[in-house]
Amino acid sequence: MTDRLYLRDPYLTRFSARVVSLADLAGRPAAVLDRSAFYPEGGGQPADRGTLAGAAVVDVQEKDGAVLHVLDRPLPTGEVEGVVDWQRRFDHMQQHHGQHLLSAAFERVLEAQTTSFHLGERACTIDLDCSISRLDEAALRSAEAAANETVWRDLPVVARDFGPEERSRLPLRKEPVKGDRVVLVEGVDASPCGGTHPSRTGEVGAIAVLGAQKWGSGKARVEFACGGRVVKLLVEQARWLSGASEALKCAARDLPEAARRAVEEAVARRKTAEALEKELARLRAAELATNGSPVVARVERASLARVLAAAVAERGAVALIAAVEDGRAHLCFARPRGAAGPGMNELLKGSLEVLGGKGGGNPDFAQGSGDPARLDEALAAARARVAAR
Ligand SMILES: [Zn+2]
Repeated sequence: MTDRLYLRDPYLTRFSARVVSLADLAGRPAAVLDRSAFYPEGGGQPADRGTLAGAAVVDVQEKDGAVLHVLDRPLPTGEVEGVVDWQRRFDHMQQHHGQHLLSAAFERVLEAQTTSFHLGERACTIDLDCSISRLDEAALRSAEAAANETVWRDLPVVARDFGPEERSRLPLRKEPVKGDRVVLVEGVDASPCGGTHPSRTGEVGAIAVLGAQKWGSGKARVEFACGGRVVKLLVEQARWLSGASEALKCAARDLPEAARRAVEEAVARRKTAEALEKELARLRAAELATNGSPVVARVERASLARVLAAAVAERGAVALIAAVEDGRAHLCFARPRGAAGPGMNELLKGSLEVLGGKGGGNPDFAQGSGDPARLDEALAAARARVAAR
């Protein structure tokens, strides 16, 4: 058994300990100490990082009551100095304690119970035993406000073992999983928990509810952030917003409207461009049809090649249209529906063999692309096959 120093003092970051045994976890060296300030992954809280005798602690896991420090290199036996990465630990303390206060607030305000908690590198979530229909904007903001009120009252946090007698008098928010440890904020929350918590609620800083979504049947997943992560998120999002403001040339508050307008305009322009291209194809087809069948032509764009091939076929001729765009040759072959002669897919296959490309279609319409170097040769061969019929 490892003496877990973080339970008595979650602020302890430097300690000395004796290496009790050396092990191996999934091919990586690991050490068991007689005492440790490193928190092993559990209860929704990720493991600490840091160093042991200069070796990097890359993971910390609990195994049969012992704390296994997984290392980037093997340790010698004897006395070692441990250093816990405080920035990461304090982030976890803020998120984890913030979760307790937020879960208690959801229970108080909405009678919604927390069924699980996840603390990720970026996102923190709780799953609530509550339908998403009850979690509208107003409900989320009222739970968030209630949770922040308990943060800003800067209440003392007690985290210790409670005997059965003492525990029976506590309004526990959930059943104990293991051990007698309870994290208590008088009048706010009492939860069995083995995680690391700050000594006052104020250290959580702030709690922001970022959104809620339906999760399984009758459940909801709520995403939130606490403390330093709130600041980080704000800075990150301000950078995204200023990038978008610059691109759309408007104030940040006008972005939703400006973005909507930009998308609407783009859709309208695309429709206009498609209509104009069709009109152009119709005119070109009329012009080209005077040369008889097949019509062989090179145009500027792949999209125009497609509509032109269709327009030529509609006028009763076989169309062998090509376009070179972005360094690729695009071929569109079309014939009047059900016409006699070689199928366009067969014809295209022969041309693509010349171009070393890929494509497909049916006997009436086929398209593909390949290397433009031998495009004229490929078109001439296809024309010869249609003419030879
Ligand atoms: Zn907890």
